[in-house]
Amino acid sequence: MITITDKSQCCGCWACENICPKHCIRMEEDNEGFRYPKIDTEKCIECGLCEKVCPLKQPKQDDTVPESFVVQNKDAQILRNSTSGGFYSAIAGYVIEKGGVVFGASFNENMTLRHTYSETLEGCAQFRGSKYVQSLIGNSYTQAKKFLDAGRLVVFSGTPCQIAGLYGFLRNRKYENLITVDLVCHGTPSPRLLDRYLAHYATLADSPVTDYRSRDKHYGYNYSTATITFADKTKQYHRGKETDMMLRLYFSNICSRPSCYQCHFKTLHRMSDITIFDCWDAPSVSSKFSSKGATNVFIHTAHGENIFRQIKDDFVWSPSDIVPIIKRDGIMIKHCVPVNPRRSEFFVDLNTLPIEDVERKYLPLSPVGRLLAAVKPMLYRLGVFTFYIKIKRLIKRNKVAE
Ligand SMILES: Cc1cc2nc3c(=O)[nH]c(=O)nc-3n(C[C@H](O)[C@H](O)[C@H](O)COP(=O)(O)OP(=O)(O)OC[C@H]3O[C@@H](n4cnc5c(N)ncnc54)[C@H](O)[C@@H]3O)c2cc1C
Ligand code: SF4
Ligand code: SF4
Ligand code: SF4
Repeated sequence: MITITDKSQCCGCWACENICPKHCIRMEEDNEGFRYPKIDTEKCIECGLCEKVCPLKQPKQDDTVPESFVVQNKDAQILRNSTSGGFYSAIAGYVIEKGGVVFGASFNENMTLRHTYSETLEGCAQFRGSKYVQSLIGNSYTQAKKFLDAGRLVVFSGTPCQIAGLYGFLRNRKYENLITVDLVCHGTPSPRLLDRYLAHYATLADSPVTDYRSRDKHYGYNYSTATITFADKTKQYHRGKETDMMLRLYFSNICSRPSCYQCHFKTLHRMSDITIFDCWDAPSVSSKFSSKGATNVFIHTAHGENIFRQIKDDFVWSPSDIVPIIKRDGIMIKHCVPVNPRRSEFFVDLNTLPIEDVERKYLPLSPVGRLLAAVKPMLYRLGVFTFYIKIKRLIKRNKVAE
């Protein structure tokens, strides 16, 4: 039976929980708000399945170079509501049209991020957009297998470790009717932290939170912001990465799961059919792209290639040269973020101090941060933001070309 002695060796994928024939594994929250398997040893029959399916016990993938494309969804509304180029919505649309089932991460009514599925186009809208928190897989692998065994077409998206967990659970069986899509992944923050952050803003607004977007295009793609939607529609919250508490903590590498700092899944080749990630300067790949957001797409399998061929008319798209793409957008494909030296202390305080005191203690806002936060939205409102972005982009293009 599986035993976790080092937390960095469990990515919290739930494969063991889904496979256990005696249902004696529960995913229990630790003092940081991440879940780990807890086994009821009385019921365990020592069958060893939980260890066999664990993706951390599988060899790492290699660095075979994938085929590479940049895509931008032609549907303006989908593009606006997606994090980058709206790739996942196109594949979801294709699967629904074929009578299939779409799995992804979305918030439930308590604002807990979990994996679920939809069999309708309207239902798939909930999956749009990146949510910077660990999603709970729950029984999604089991549900996906039921649909696969019944011959339904299934698309499943998630972090690379969640996709590896799904294949572990399926015992590496390659289903013709399964399409998998993973992300380039910076890491996933603690669900407890997101709960505390949303509760804080709900109290300030005196209204429950009904939606949260980690990367909204309120000020455009290149200055994506955190947006909180409240039941009271007169209340608004849009903040960039200089002032939003959650984004600042995320990018200071203080709140991710221990496994994210030694990620086993950061390889060029993936188990998934397709990998997607941000393309920050699509107009430099081809002038046919607007600056409203685009997705880098890596194709790893013949199956992925076939699906891409079926949906490519939904996009403005272009093949891309993998070397500059990796240099500009892809540092997180192969590299882990370094652990913030104050991480352990941070989680102790998260459990004891008010969240605003935690933020003040670990990330006091600098005068430059305050200035940038005030200036950027102003530039946007005055319409000069696009100019600012163009300058920034030119500087970056020169760096990539060096
Ligand atoms: C936690 C996280 C970290 C990321 N880190 C990077 C990075 O370092 N560099 C980079 O270039 N791109 C990163 N991305 C990917 C990027 O933000 C976009 O998701 C990607 O560019 C695809 O955007 P899209 O517009 O094509 O699709 P979207 O419509 O934005 O599709 C998003 C898909 O991601 C799934 N998803 C959303 N949140 C989660 C979650 N928490 N866990 C599992 N699945 C989720 C949804 O189900 C959906 O299928 C990250 C995404 C997440 C969720
Ligand atoms: S060894 Fe078998 S029965 Fe025991 S916890 Fe693992 S999967 Fe369940
Ligand atoms: S299968 Fe997943 S949840 Fe279970 S121990 Fe392995 S990594 Fe952790
Ligand atoms: S960084 Fe690695 S371990 Fe962490 S969520 Fe992403 S894929 Fe999983």
